[in-house]
Amino acid sequence: MVIRFYGTRGSVAVANKETKKYGGNTTCLYVESNSGDAIVIDAGTGIRELGSHLVENKKNIIHLIFTHYHWDHIQGFPFFAPIFLDKTEIYIYGHKKDVTAKKALIYQMTKPYFPATLSEIPSNIVFKELEDRMKIGDLLIETIINNHPDYTYGLKFTEKKNSFAFLTDNELFAKNNNTSYKEFVDFLRGVNFFIHDAQYVDEIYEQRVGWGHSTHGQVMKLAKDTGVKNIIFTHHDHTSTDRFIDKILKDLRSKHPNINIQAAADGRTIILK
Ligand SMILES: [Zn+2]
Ligand SMILES: [Zn+2]
Repeated sequence: MVIRFYGTRGSVAVANKETKKYGGNTTCLYVESNSGDAIVIDAGTGIRELGSHLVENKKNIIHLIFTHYHWDHIQGFPFFAPIFLDKTEIYIYGHKKDVTAKKALIYQMTKPYFPATLSEIPSNIVFKELEDRMKIGDLLIETIINNHPDYTYGLKFTEKKNSFAFLTDNELFAKNNNTSYKEFVDFLRGVNFFIHDAQYVDEIYEQRVGWGHSTHGQVMKLAKDTGVKNIIFTHHDHTSTDRFIDKILKDLRSKHPNINIQAAADGRTIILK
């Protein structure tokens, strides 16, 4: 399984020299199974670059999973090159708790916000419900409901002995929670690594309780309680510079020498063999 980050920024895209190292695109993750299944998670602005990669590599069958429909997870969709090719078959998975993926995309691609509507796109789009447990090729995908202002799902991918989880937009210790902290611990136990929202530092979090995001410190607690030794922070705040993220990593690595702590960066690839 190959995992590649195309967008790791939270809330809104940024483009300046202080954020070049970790990148400024909003959420998009690419997963390719050993047998070549192409799975895209979220359509933040990072999906634009991924689209060019998929066209170049002649990936005509694409699975796109939405964790939720906040702007920073859908706004790259109208710029995803494969949807404009009539040979593309795209399966779109999302929950239908309050709004379906189809409706969210129709709302986004409508005048005066965008000149082309969803129905004008030439690719063959099939909408599917995101199930608690489903398979794409040999990949098993399991979900958990995150704690976030609108329904949002965390995902766990397993292929043979390899597994990882991706929980973006999740407030681990939310007061009015959908899922308890213990349930997250149980969900993540045993994965090779997990990627988790760490948008805030403690001082900012105090002013943002209930906004649906976690702190680096809370994610470290999760690493300890699950026993997972490789963790990756994502959904970096749009105000966090490279220097700021590097300092957080340096401090936490010295406090937790037995845990491999990384920050997700646009363009970074992980290979699980
Ligand atoms: Zn987000
Ligand atoms: Zn969100």
